[in-house]
Amino acid sequence: MRIILLGPPGAGKGTQSKRLVERHGVVQLSTGDMLRAAVAAGTPIGLEAKDIMARGQLVPDEIVVAIVADRIEEPDCARGFILDGFPRTVAQAEALDAMLLEKNLSLDVVIELKVDEVALLARVENRIAESGGEVRADDNAEALAKRLEVYRSQTAPLVEYYAETGQLVSIDGMQPIEAVAAEIDKVIKASAEA
Ligand code: AMP
Repeated sequence: MRIILLGPPGAGKGTQSKRLVERHGVVQLSTGDMLRAAVAAGTPIGLEAKDIMARGQLVPDEIVVAIVADRIEEPDCARGFILDGFPRTVAQAEALDAMLLEKNLSLDVVIELKVDEVALLARVENRIAESGGEVRADDNAEALAKRLEVYRSQTAPLVEYYAETGQLVSIDGMQPIEAVAAEIDKVIKASAEA
């Protein structure tokens, strides 16, 4: 199973991805997690990404595309993967299409988690409060506002992109976590049967 979870910061992509990993034994590919690991390890990519991420902007396409291209070659991706936070631009989506085509693979479904922005701010504030002080460098009001703006301008066009390919299913991400999870399971089941 190969799935993209699409949605703005705080929509629940990470939470739902982790659940899918547990239930379906697939791999979660979160470019945000991979980049944070690179920042923590002080790799050349991490050094380049650090300030960009802290400002809530996007890391250049060629960097993330290369990271994903390498990662999906790993044997643990053979059973499938959930892309969480990638693609984030139309150029990344096109690069992903080319990558999959080359491997003779296809996406099963692109699931959009739809949420309203007021709730997003509350969710991220919650995440900050619950973290006990260990906050992500980009979990602050200013970076969040930037991340939302970037989502609207650069990532939201992917909704149209995947609607046109017929791969998009939108889910109400404002529901409780379990209800969203149940809808995601339904969508996955339907796409497996199609
Ligand atoms: P996330 O954990 O998905 O919210 O990502 C955190 C930050 O990492 C983003 O605000 C970007 O700076 C960077 N990032 C993660 N994924 C991507 C991507 N696909 N393209 C560009 N930048 C990304």
